[in-house]
Amino acid sequence: MDQKVSPEYIQTSLAASLTLGFQQGSFHRNAKLKGLNLLLHYDEGCLGRCHFCGLSRSRREGPKGKTFIRVDWPLYPLEEIIERIKGKDQIHRVCLSMITHPKALEDTVFVIDKLRKETDLPISVLISPTLILHDDSLAAMKRAGADRVGIAIDAATPELFDQLRGKGVGGPHQWDHYWDVTRMAVSVFGRFYVGIHLIVGLGETEKEMVDAVQKGQNVGAYTHLFSFFPEIGSPMEKHSPPPLGQYRRIQLARWVINEGLGSASQMTFDEGGRLIDFGRNIESLIRSGEPFMTSGCPGRDGKVACNRPYGNERPSEPIRNFPFMPEREDIEEIKKQLE
Ligand code: SF4
Repeated sequence: MDQKVSPEYIQTSLAASLTLGFQQGSFHRNAKLKGLNLLLHYDEGCLGRCHFCGLSRSRREGPKGKTFIRVDWPLYPLEEIIERIKGKDQIHRVCLSMITHPKALEDTVFVIDKLRKETDLPISVLISPTLILHDDSLAAMKRAGADRVGIAIDAATPELFDQLRGKGVGGPHQWDHYWDVTRMAVSVFGRFYVGIHLIVGLGETEKEMVDAVQKGQNVGAYTHLFSFFPEIGSPMEKHSPPPLGQYRRIQLARWVINEGLGSASQMTFDEGGRLIDFGRNIESLIRSGEPFMTSGCPGRDGKVACNRPYGNERPSEPIRNFPFMPEREDIEEIKKQLE
């Protein structure tokens, strides 16, 4: 029996599937997907047990299969995806996500090499640090043609990481190893060619999140922010997303730190760890709208290509990561949310 597994088959995000014409549908407010996300697929799935993740082994599977970052990930032949990417000018980058599986390293290099040879798109890899023991694996990805690396640290503190991804859930991941691999990736790909993913709303304080963003900045990694969204069937399905005000403050703080406009040590927090002063005037930053756009790897024009439309909320809810420049009415809403 033919198995539909990587590297011959690969999953795409629902947004990518629509953009490549595998499925029909339109995007709320005409958002345009600019970064194409691909995900390795194996029958055994991911060996991780992360409490909040849609791909976790600890998740009950729904009738439509597993969702990940809020949406379905349909499976298609890699060859066909590559054919459909060709000539799609709206796509500015492709990102290949590994999962924690013994075949993932080898297949990642194979898929990068194929994408490099058959398209002219810059390639990011969202790596699985638990599989990476030496910098040779990262060097092989770079040689094959990847120019950037993402590392999903997700939880902002060692305690939360351990509790939600490590020992607390019988999972294989370790906080110190994730940061060691982040440093290793910076040494192979260069400062700020690496990004860490952090998820706001897993139980951390605002101070703890801002400190994690600063830690990334200090080692040479930008932060790509996500807002927690409860995946149905995951052990955290009943946990609420973070309040909008909290998410907006963290977006602003991330912007200040990653743009080199200030640092965590200049910011002030109350006794509950809530951010109350950014250490600089933020009026013009809010008016610009840019801090509230999706943070992710850039395309050739230097602007964010990984814009993940509606990856953090339902289209009927307030947009958390804007996949386009917020308009005047959006900024007015954001100001209210910040109050
Ligand atoms: S920000 Fe986007 S393109 Fe970059 S590693 Fe993360 S998912 Fe991939």
